[in-house]
Amino acid sequence: MTRVYNFSAGPAMLPEEVLRQAREEMLDWQGSGMSVMEMSHRGKEFMSIAEQAEADLRELMAIPDDYKVLFLQGGASSQFAMVPMNLLRGRSKADYINTGAWSKKAIAEAGRYCEVNVAGTSEAENFSTVPAQEALQLSADAAYVHYTPNETIGGVEFPYVPETGDKPLVADMSSTILSRPIDVSKYGVIYAGAQKNVGPAGLTLVIVRDDLIGEPLEGTPTMFDYQTHAKSGSMYNTPPTYSWYLAGLVFQWLKRNGGLAAMAEINKRKSGKLYAAIDGSDFYANPVDPACRSWMNVPFTLANPDLDATFLDEAKARGLTTLKGHRSVGGMRASIYNAMPEAGVDALVEFMADFEKRHG
Ligand SMILES: *Cc1c(COP(=O)(O)O)cnc(C)c1O
Repeated sequence: MTRVYNFSAGPAMLPEEVLRQAREEMLDWQGSGMSVMEMSHRGKEFMSIAEQAEADLRELMAIPDDYKVLFLQGGASSQFAMVPMNLLRGRSKADYINTGAWSKKAIAEAGRYCEVNVAGTSEAENFSTVPAQEALQLSADAAYVHYTPNETIGGVEFPYVPETGDKPLVADMSSTILSRPIDVSKYGVIYAGAQKNVGPAGLTLVIVRDDLIGEPLEGTPTMFDYQTHAKSGSMYNTPPTYSWYLAGLVFQWLKRNGGLAAMAEINKRKSGKLYAAIDGSDFYANPVDPACRSWMNVPFTLANPDLDATFLDEAKARGLTTLKGHRSVGGMRASIYNAMPEAGVDALVEFMADFEKRHG
């Protein structure tokens, strides 16, 4: 068996230890005689898995008691609609900050349900930075403020949490949740597709403050109403049981490895090494404002794009895979979530230096 360092943006690497444990428990979960995949979601075995996962996530993120944690399907993309459906609450306007491809998608979807005020944008800078707090133009009658703390495609991250007064702050944390400690109480809703930094695809985490639940837009489908899932412990219908279980194993892995404070240190160091390698050479470049560079997704270009294919081929031969940049930006992108070992980043940095020596 050969495992590669997989720099995919998502679905992304999972901790090897977690995969081994899942393999170990695949046919017979803790003497139950069945795989987690075969369990009733209402049986006592799965209920214990579900409860443990939620308790561990609450502990890791220090989620206050007046927040529900929902384990849903539909991806972050469904939240682009569920957020306005649940949070407009009689208002007809919402503020959105536009920092790139994922913000734009959220804005387009919200526009189907309300008037969107783009309260700040870095489009004029080609999304290489984020608007400053002072530049945000929040509207008095907005129901909430939505932003994307980490733009997965552009590799741009907010170095601050927007201050929104009494308006609930909503964050699409798909590619940054669990990468560092955050103050959950600053947010009304946090949502994330699991396949980047939580677990396998199929699970979507939604952390929502209690007072924002229970007043959906008229005509909201039952499955799109937060209340439906809050009241039923995310068991209104069949939840994504296996993904929930695997996410739970990841939470335990995080706890064993020092929690989110430890992850923050490691992630800062990993990304720092990669940016130093890029900045230290004329052969590689990253266009993002250094104050807003992502710890999780590091895009970079080669001075000569004709070498892109060779770079990718040679990297792959060394076990460094999925480095091709998003089709909308080209170049390369190294996604280095929690599960990417530091040795993987070291191997990439070493390869980049070697490649430059031979081709630069
Ligand atoms: C991947 C991603 C999405 C889309 O997630 P799905 O789960 O595929 O719907 C949305 N927002 C961000 C920031 C992402 O990284």
